[in-house]
Amino acid sequence: MNNYDLTNEIRSKVDIVDIIGERIPLVSKGKNFFGVCPFHDDTNPSMSVSREKQIYRCFSCGASGNVFSFLMNYEHKEFKEVLKDLGDRVGINTSNIKIDKVSTKYDDLYEAYKFSTKYFQNNLASQVGREAREYLSKRGITEDIIKKFEIGLSLDDKKDLTTLLINKKYDFKTLNEIGLSIDDRDIYTDRIMFPLYDPYGKIVGFSGRIYGDGNKGQSKYINTRETKIFKKGECLYNYHIAIDACRVSKNVIIMEGFMDVIRASTIGIKNTVALMGTALTKEQISLIKRLSKNIILCLDGDSPGVNATLKIGEVLLGEDFDVKVVALPNDDDPDTFILSNGKDRFLGLIESAVNFSDYKIESLKKNVNFDSEESLANYINSVLLETSKINDDIRVEIILKKLAKDYNIGYNTLEKRFKELKKDKPAPKIEIKAQKKKKSRKNKYILAVEQLIYYMLNNDWVVEQVENENIIFPNNEERLLTSEVIYYYKKHGKITIADFYTYLEDKPDLLNLLNEIVANDYKETISKDEIFAYFKVIREYSVNEQIKRLEKKIKEEPDIMEQARISEQIRKLKLGE
Ligand code: ATP
Ligand code: MN
Repeated sequence: MNNYDLTNEIRSKVDIVDIIGERIPLVSKGKNFFGVCPFHDDTNPSMSVSREKQIYRCFSCGASGNVFSFLMNYEHKEFKEVLKDLGDRVGINTSNIKIDKVSTKYDDLYEAYKFSTKYFQNNLASQVGREAREYLSKRGITEDIIKKFEIGLSLDDKKDLTTLLINKKYDFKTLNEIGLSIDDRDIYTDRIMFPLYDPYGKIVGFSGRIYGDGNKGQSKYINTRETKIFKKGECLYNYHIAIDACRVSKNVIIMEGFMDVIRASTIGIKNTVALMGTALTKEQISLIKRLSKNIILCLDGDSPGVNATLKIGEVLLGEDFDVKVVALPNDDDPDTFILSNGKDRFLGLIESAVNFSDYKIESLKKNVNFDSEESLANYINSVLLETSKINDDIRVEIILKKLAKDYNIGYNTLEKRFKELKKDKPAPKIEIKAQKKKKSRKNKYILAVEQLIYYMLNNDWVVEQVENENIIFPNNEERLLTSEVIYYYKKHGKITIADFYTYLEDKPDLLNLLNEIVANDYKETISKDEIFAYFKVIREYSVNEQIKRLEKKIKEEPDIMEQARISEQIRKLKLGE
């Protein structure tokens, strides 16, 4: 079996409905399944998944593909990894499959970062790294961890790395642009270097930490500035490791700093990511959605950490996550807590994480003056407001009973107010209706082409007709895609659209066009007459294009005889000869 056959075998052994359904809720409706599309910002179920065709498509953003493309986009993995995951699932060994790496325009940048990482690692391991190694060792960072997280050291020398990279092939301008140099000097000097990874696990930046006493007054960490490949708000530290770990643990622990995540990994906890600060961006939220619905917020115990917990928890709750909170004592962060209390106590904390709403209700208590009736009433109202967000009747009753008892208020009074607050809440929308892609005003020709290709993918007869009638699409990409469809059909005797996606994997332009076409919500079947009508439109269009070209040519033609000849050609075309 060649790669392509093996790939298709794996594809045919998994059901795309299961794979997608394990990640986002799907509801069956008619022949298809519907869910909220994870590839654009949406709350409506505009993505449909077809068990019959083994493809997904979003009517709203136009994403489409097979199970491989879904997982590649959803989990930010490369084809090979996705193939391995699915191969493991169905018991097919993929280790012998060779897949040519598709090169990207950023290969040089990734390479520069890889090179720099190796260089920093080398520094740390060598004589000059002694003080830094001592610092790390004092913090309980072992050789093992240093290796795993590819930790390194930048040197006091102000030009070392820049010079090496210049000698390799890079120029100053590039090195400045990609955040490794400033003018002709290194950006990072004498710092412990932590590589930062993109969601695919590629190194795209660094965070450099001061150590020792030499650099007092400087900021603790310096991060790579935003570049074409590094957007801080689109990264979560450890995401590429956590993606598999979270599938097992069924939850994700969110921390502030990467030192916290590194520490957690030393006690075997891998389902963690770090925000690298206390802000949470929209892009990070969509990454977290891919990790798990169940979140454990474990930010620092200091007051910025507490404030961030309240703020981030609220945001995540609004995004339909199940949010729990671990409140660390004193000013501990996970790193220091684990160091001073050990693995079991930390696991105990994670185990007993409280619901975000309970955490919030508890935190509301802080500024209440219990001697003032007004302050107390405000407090009780805000607790009720919080409670009205909880969709669990039993928990609601427990909270109301506790309030009634603690403050000696009638249960019925509380319940009445609670119901009023609940009524003000808009009911969650559960409408299942595929949003139609906004009708762009496509001309007759484009509609004909798109529908022809669409039905070629679903109906052998259409493929054969397009070939027999020698339909030539005037535009390059459409022509190329059509000839790929015909070639595929001849080779395999039928079109399996889910495999056709794999077949086009290394032709991104055609794949885009295919996406656009498939994501249309065209009717299920089409009559022969309609197909022939489309042929006619395409032929007319071709002729018109030819005429346009000739008319342009005539204007630029100095020779009168030649002009006459072209004009005759135009006349014949117009007559349909
Ligand atoms: P350490 O234990 O080494 O002091 P930490 O994890 O406790 O590190 P925090 O001060 O809690 O560090 O910061 C959390 C995260 O915020 C860091 O991992 C880093 O990504 C980011 N950060 C902190 N300070 C800075 C800074 N000055 N510039 C850029 N990023 C920073
Ligand atoms: Mn710390």
